[in-house]
Amino acid sequence: MEKKNIDWSSIGFAYMPTDYRYVSNFKDGKWDEGTLSTDPNIVLNECAGVLQYSQSVFEGLKAYTTEDGHIVTFRPDLNAERIAASAARLEMPVFPKERFIDAVEQVVKANAAWVPPYGSGATLYLRPYMFGSNAVIGVKPADEYQFRILTTPVGPYFKGGAKPITIRVSDYDRAAPCGTGNIKAGLNYAMSLHAIVDAHKQGFDENMYLDPKTRTKVEETGGANFIFVTKDGKVVTPKSDSILPSITRRSLIYVAKEYLGLEAEEREVYFDEVKDFAECGLCGTAAVISPVGKINDHGKEICFPSGMEKMGPVIQKLYDTLTGIQMGRIEAPKGWIHVIE
Ligand SMILES: *Cc1c(COP(=O)(O)O)cnc(C)c1O
Repeated sequence: MEKKNIDWSSIGFAYMPTDYRYVSNFKDGKWDEGTLSTDPNIVLNECAGVLQYSQSVFEGLKAYTTEDGHIVTFRPDLNAERIAASAARLEMPVFPKERFIDAVEQVVKANAAWVPPYGSGATLYLRPYMFGSNAVIGVKPADEYQFRILTTPVGPYFKGGAKPITIRVSDYDRAAPCGTGNIKAGLNYAMSLHAIVDAHKQGFDENMYLDPKTRTKVEETGGANFIFVTKDGKVVTPKSDSILPSITRRSLIYVAKEYLGLEAEEREVYFDEVKDFAECGLCGTAAVISPVGKINDHGKEICFPSGMEKMGPVIQKLYDTLTGIQMGRIEAPKGWIHVIE
C-alpha cells in the first residue's frame, strides 16, 4: 500500500481529514451495523442533545507502525472500557467493547495509507466519540446517538527533544468532588479552556489543578495525569476519584514495577510535599510523558532538581521503556499491542 505523500516529521497536532471515518447510529434502543464513510461532515438538527446540553464523550489513541512493520494500536480494550464508563455516567448507551475494537480495526485498515512509517515519530491519532444526536429541549438524555471514529495524522510530540515545561497552580477548579472528573467528557474540557488560555497569557504551559474541596491535594492538569519521583527513586502518582484514569499512567506504573523494579504507589499527594520530589512529569497518550521542570504557586517557584534542560533520569527510563514497548523494540506484556495488519 502506497503511503500518502506527507512530510511526516513536520506535521503538528492539527486536524487533517483522512479518507475514511467510522460511523454508527443508535436509534430505537439499538446500534446499527456501522459503516465507513468518506464524508467528514455531520448534519444535525438544530436542537440536537449535544448542542444543547453537551451530552458527549470521547477517547484518544494512536495507530502507528512498529519496528517490524506492523500497524498496531496500544491497549484499545482500555479505551473501549473507559468510553463505556464515560457514556454510562452521562446516561448514554454503551457502544459494546468488541464493536469498539472492530471499529478501530476497520477505520485504521481503511486509512492505512495515513499511518506514518516507523521512525518518523508521527502517528495516526484516533478520536472515537459519541454524542446525543436527536432534538432535546427539556433537560433529559437524548434518545438517539452517533458513535464515530475520526482519524488524523499527527507529528512527533517533541520536536528536537523533550524540553521540561513550566506549569502553574490554578485558581480554577477542573472537577468537583463526585462530579465528572473521572470520565472523558467534552464538558470537562469546555470549562478548562479559560484557565488554559489564561495560563498561556501568563507564560505558563499548563495548569496544575488541586482538589476543589480542600485545595491541598494534587489532582491533574487539563489533559494529563501527574507522575512524581521521590529523591529515593520511588514513583508516586496521585489518587483521587475526580482524576481521569489515564491509560498511559496505568501503563507507566506497571512498567516501573515490573520492568524497572521500582517501587510505585498511587496515593493522595499533598501539594506541600511536591517541593520534596526529585522529578515530575505529565502523562497521556499524546506525549507519553512531558517532563515538568518548574511549578509556579502564586509567584513561589518549585524547581525540580532535574532542571529545565532534560527529563529526570527515572522519568527518562520510564519514557524509554514504555515507548520501546509501544514500538516493538522491547517485549510487551500480553495484550498491550493490538496488531491490526
Ligand atoms: C485523556 C486524558 C488523560 C490521559 O489519558 P491517556 O489514556 O493516558 O491518554 C489525562 N487526563 C485527562 C483529563 C484526560 O482527558
